[in-house]
Amino acid sequence: MRRKLAAGNWKMNGTEATLSELAALQTPAEIDVLICPPNTLISRAASANDKIALGGQDCHRAQSGAHTGDISAEMLVDAGASYVLTGHSERRTDHGETNEIVAAKTRAAWSQNLVAVVCIGETLAEREAGTTLEVIAQQLAGSVPEDATAQNTVIAYEPVWAIGTGLVPTLEQIAEVHDFLRSELSKRFGAEIAEGIRLLYGGSVKPSNAESIFATSNVDGALVGGASLKADDFNGIISALASA
Ligand code: PEP
Repeated sequence: MRRKLAAGNWKMNGTEATLSELAALQTPAEIDVLICPPNTLISRAASANDKIALGGQDCHRAQSGAHTGDISAEMLVDAGASYVLTGHSERRTDHGETNEIVAAKTRAAWSQNLVAVVCIGETLAEREAGTTLEVIAQQLAGSVPEDATAQNTVIAYEPVWAIGTGLVPTLEQIAEVHDFLRSELSKRFGAEIAEGIRLLYGGSVKPSNAESIFATSNVDGALVGGASLKADDFNGIISALASA
């Protein structure tokens, strides 16, 4: 049985004042709640709400060294994180992260016992060209290293065109990709590992659409951007997941 996961990605948002939103988050016992705040807030976030898991939004592939402005997996753990996002589409676009780089970052995360939430998803042009499953298969193969397990890896399917746009794929489109992901994972890692890896949907999830998305085949939770910034909104998503 996969434990459901409601994950929030605060991106480049949040200061000391925002911590009150964290304190107001519900943490139902039957699901995991994760917030990935900016790095500056990770250690303070742990004091604001000790029932939520914390994650980084990125980590460098190296353990330490001359990489000005970057953060290592070890530093995230030191700050109180137990998860890290790797390969978010904004990292792929803004920082030119390739599947190989994402795989190296995922390995760096695992080396520090962080759970990697590996993000993949097609662009609108790829969806319209009918190549979604091909793109997803390539990203999955290239971004998730060999040693993936149900404990160290979560996959987030985030269509690039649905992130921050208010556009959401149909439930059939979400089910098609999630079923495909489960079967690709099974081919590569075997049924037992594949059955344990949690698959999140991400892209304009809100309290109003969460219930139907969580009822969709092979959706084990959500990665949420905008609607994770306000406790009222994220609590709506958390409640929908807890009762799914
Ligand atoms: C995200 O950034 O991962 C995301 C899904 O954003 P939003 O929920 O705002 O679309």
